[in-house]
Amino acid sequence: MSKNLTKRSEDYSKWYNELVVKADLAEMSGVRGCMVIKPYGYAIWEKMQAELDRMFKETGHENAYFPLFIPKSYFSKEASHVDGFAKECAVVTHYRLKNAEDGSGIVVDEDAKLEEELIVRPTSETIIWDTYRKWVQSYRDLPILVNQWANVVRWEMRTRLFLRTAEFLWQEGHTAHATKQEALAEAKQMQGVYADFAENFMAMPVIKGTKTESERFAGALETYTIEALMQDGKALQAGTSHFLGQNFAKAFDVKFTSKEGKLEYVWATSWGVSTRLMGALVMTHSDDKGLVLPPNLAPIQVVIVPIYKGEEQLETISIKAKQIMAELKSKGISVKFDDRDTYKPGWKFAQYELKGVPLRIAMGPRDMENGTVELARRDTLTKETVNQDVLVATIEDLLGKIQESLFNKAKDYRNSHITEVDNFDDFKTVLNGKGGFISAHWDGTSETENKIKDLTKATIRCIPNEYIEEEGVCVFSGKPSTKRVLFAKAY
Ligand code: AMP
Repeated sequence: MSKNLTKRSEDYSKWYNELVVKADLAEMSGVRGCMVIKPYGYAIWEKMQAELDRMFKETGHENAYFPLFIPKSYFSKEASHVDGFAKECAVVTHYRLKNAEDGSGIVVDEDAKLEEELIVRPTSETIIWDTYRKWVQSYRDLPILVNQWANVVRWEMRTRLFLRTAEFLWQEGHTAHATKQEALAEAKQMQGVYADFAENFMAMPVIKGTKTESERFAGALETYTIEALMQDGKALQAGTSHFLGQNFAKAFDVKFTSKEGKLEYVWATSWGVSTRLMGALVMTHSDDKGLVLPPNLAPIQVVIVPIYKGEEQLETISIKAKQIMAELKSKGISVKFDDRDTYKPGWKFAQYELKGVPLRIAMGPRDMENGTVELARRDTLTKETVNQDVLVATIEDLLGKIQESLFNKAKDYRNSHITEVDNFDDFKTVLNGKGGFISAHWDGTSETENKIKDLTKATIRCIPNEYIEEEGVCVFSGKPSTKRVLFAKAY
């Protein structure tokens, strides 16, 4: 096997990049900032998608699809939106290539210049609100609860596999409502759905909160976020849900006749999570031996490795292994029997550790005599001998326990990395020492927020939903404050 992973304590960032590649999740492509998601990585993404999709449908949403290209004129209709995204837009200007007259190769055909340039969507509010104008006339047409699974392009300068790429996969929900209250409730509901998914499927604890004005989505009145903490003490914005007010309805003239017969603008939300969640999953649980996957998202939950000499032993083990597989499958547990004779058991063990398979069964001739197997947990790296009669029940129970234990471990880490700080010296000491979230008073101004960011690189991750009113003074300006907010260095 190739050389060991870099240790997290040596270089966390290098560890992450190596792990994503070695575990076969993804690799950078020949296209700047764009990655290839490999089958094993895509299988995890598909599990995430399937669950989120189920949750969206359960909360009343339907899927639809809108174009990849957005005419520049649509894009520029909502002023703050275009301001926010202009710096990272890919633009299509031509629709044809031709052979160069001097024979030097293929060039853009200048005769095939688009009359109106097209933006490759960085997000779809504009094209969708242009469409909603045609869908909405009366209050009876509302709400519209639509989600789209798509790719988007944001011309990011500093990219990193999954966490920040120039093209990424995501879902974007876009809803239209008759009232402000309904739109606000929707935006908050989706923040809750994201938190539920992060905690119960990714086993990743998150803090729900509201973004400050300077961290808000371009075009939103409020951005609700879920913030997670990675093992190196840096925060990660894992999902966002926006209350867009009537900004897009006004920009695209989307009005409806209310029950009272009045013509009113429609209220909007949008919400999204992306393939960044893959990076979050890796960074939350994995260790120096490789990935650690929560059972709820592991493409293979159990692997069986036979240990044998010769065909005869393999035959006996295979019969038993197939029986165990059938039983596990009938319980909805995904299982792989790796009987390849081209690799030794030790190599396979290391490989499944690298790939984060939650449980490994090893079966050798002695186990066959004793009616047992060796069962190993990826998260704790512990092994036990289990009687074959109770194996399936044991596995069912253990998968649940592993899921829970991963969450608790991550939560303990996160909770021990929220530090209350009351002066700027301590703020810097904690930030550059143990890291994590810093809970501190803030005077509520963007000016102070930006100064802190310039001096320390820490940003306000969120104003937590669950905060206690508390009189205090801003950690930087000394001005009065009524609540603590969470600062951190973030990905
Ligand atoms: P936004 O539309 O900016 O609120 O983004 C929606 C979600 O996509 C957020 O949860 C972001 O964390 C994620 N996201 C934003 N930019 C990128 C990127 N370049 N690569 C991967 N995910 C991203």
